[in-house]
Amino acid sequence: MHTAYITHPSYLQHDMGHWHPESPARLRAIDDRLHAAHLYDHLAHHEATRAHRSQLLRVHDAAYIDFVEAASPTEGFQALDPDTSMNPHTLDAAYHAAGGAAMAVDLVMRGEANNAFVACRPPGHHATRNQAMGFCFFNNVAVAAAHALEQHGMERVAIVDFDVHHGNGTEDIFRDDPRLMLCSTFQHPFYPHCGADTVSEHIVNVPLPAGTTGNTYRAAFTEKILPRLDAFRPQMLFFSAGFDGHREDDMAQFGLVEADYAWITEQVMEVAARHAEKRIVSVLEGGYDLSALGRSVAAHIKTLAGL
Ligand SMILES: [Zn+2]
Repeated sequence: MHTAYITHPSYLQHDMGHWHPESPARLRAIDDRLHAAHLYDHLAHHEATRAHRSQLLRVHDAAYIDFVEAASPTEGFQALDPDTSMNPHTLDAAYHAAGGAAMAVDLVMRGEANNAFVACRPPGHHATRNQAMGFCFFNNVAVAAAHALEQHGMERVAIVDFDVHHGNGTEDIFRDDPRLMLCSTFQHPFYPHCGADTVSEHIVNVPLPAGTTGNTYRAAFTEKILPRLDAFRPQMLFFSAGFDGHREDDMAQFGLVEADYAWITEQVMEVAARHAEKRIVSVLEGGYDLSALGRSVAAHIKTLAGL
């Protein structure tokens, strides 16, 4: 048994402009670091499949999917949001990002992998049922979780979103679906300026102030998230794996380091061992300082792979 690593050439072709922090260089930095850390050869590599429209329809409105398809430019950029735009390759990358996340579920459910990491772009957790925003088009982790519920008959799944930004799109999509527990830690107040006031049995939002470092983060995670996950007894766990809370990442003002990401991974792996036959699918979200991103993903994957 091993950790699957899923990527696709189209992920490198989606580009929102040379100035944009959500860049193809992010995936090259991860790839470089996995080689340098001698992790690459320990992973089972897969090329992502393209999502079927029926998989997207579980979490997005048909009219929204049509809108994104129609917006796809033949040249140049098409902005859908002030910081979220499409180039001619974005639509293909977005379909393969969602498809890679669903494929990860299939690999884990078939027992071909213990767990899986999807090194995808564009990210997904800000994409709501009917809106692209925050560098996101289709909500990849939501597509994956819905695939586990609808295709594989799971009755309870949980998403742990440790990106420094609130997973507002994922919350929007699953607000009325108690089969899914979303646990999201995020800097507050901060973009996307929501989540702190949510009251729900199955949405566990943990807003934390700018300046939060590992000790404070771990205490909040231990107190507010782990007991809720254990009580929920998820049959499969997902990470919205954003690494923009790293202290070297100037997108936000958290002070997490690689050891904190390894710790979060370990905690959720223990929950997965207790309730979910170790099933975990991790989907890349943010992380914009290239060196910190590479090192943090390596720490996350090394832990997932038990290396
Ligand atoms: Zn983020």
